[in-house]
Amino acid sequence: MGRVAIGVDVGGTNLRFGIVSEAGKVIARSRAKSDAHQGVDAVISRIDKGIAGMLKRAERDGHVPAGIGVGVPGIISLPEGVVRFSPNLPGWENFPLRDRLQHHFRLPAIIENDANAYALGEAWKGAGVGVESLVCLTLGTGVGGGIILGGEIWRGVDGMAGEVGHVTVVPKGRKCHCGNRGCLEVYASATAVVERAGEALSLGTKSCLVDCFPSGLTAADVKHAADTGDALALRMYRDAGVYLGIAIAGLINLLNVERVVIGGGMAGAWDLFIGPLRAEVARRAFDVPAKRCEIVPGILGDDAGMVGNAGLVFRG
Ligand SMILES: [Zn+2]
Repeated sequence: MGRVAIGVDVGGTNLRFGIVSEAGKVIARSRAKSDAHQGVDAVISRIDKGIAGMLKRAERDGHVPAGIGVGVPGIISLPEGVVRFSPNLPGWENFPLRDRLQHHFRLPAIIENDANAYALGEAWKGAGVGVESLVCLTLGTGVGGGIILGGEIWRGVDGMAGEVGHVTVVPKGRKCHCGNRGCLEVYASATAVVERAGEALSLGTKSCLVDCFPSGLTAADVKHAADTGDALALRMYRDAGVYLGIAIAGLINLLNVERVVIGGGMAGAWDLFIGPLRAEVARRAFDVPAKRCEIVPGILGDDAGMVGNAGLVFRG
């Protein structure tokens, strides 16, 4: 019983909904497919349905909903509560999501970039507890980033800060959908690991992965192959660790943060990339900030975004 917030995580694949207490505990969760390709109206109606279900349940259990916090991938204008652009949500250009939700549910609503929400969740109730400065990276379809300085998200003057995934790690490297070449995201995301493995296979590299190539090679296949000692799969994770280490060494020199938190689906392969990552940081960053900075896995998993969004509601 007590005040709760409805935390929502909008992804290109899944929608996640949670009832979150003022203490940051997830009391209930639900999930739906985004089917983002069906367009804005279809996704919004599924978001409405998910939030309505959570509100009904909260009220049934005697909780008082304080508001709705929604994390969306892409570029968000916080003051206007507008989704400017989302690479994963076709058709959402300049969509006034906050006002739409406030009007529909008659509750305060707040929207935030999904990677920032993830960082806020981990900072509030996860692997970032106890420090004032941290950088969060999420390794999934892409590489997301959120920077917390002095306990607050650093958004940058245009609200676009924290794009660690689009830091260049290889000059003239692989092409990124952002228009640049050699971004961290095209070497260290789950997508990149699969694509790079596929490229090596098509050049004739020997690997047990050849059985699931060219059709249907997935990140889970590469992880499984690495776990069984496949040299190509192991190399893909080692390379990802090296490129992550290059970017993180830069962040440590630039920001002197207390902690770097790494989450997202690919963080499940932690043991396969953390060694090369740490070696690269030790090689490239200044000694004092590198030794001070703890590099740790996220602990909230899929809950991190909704917890962060709920926290924003409570903080108003
Ligand atoms: Zn990029």
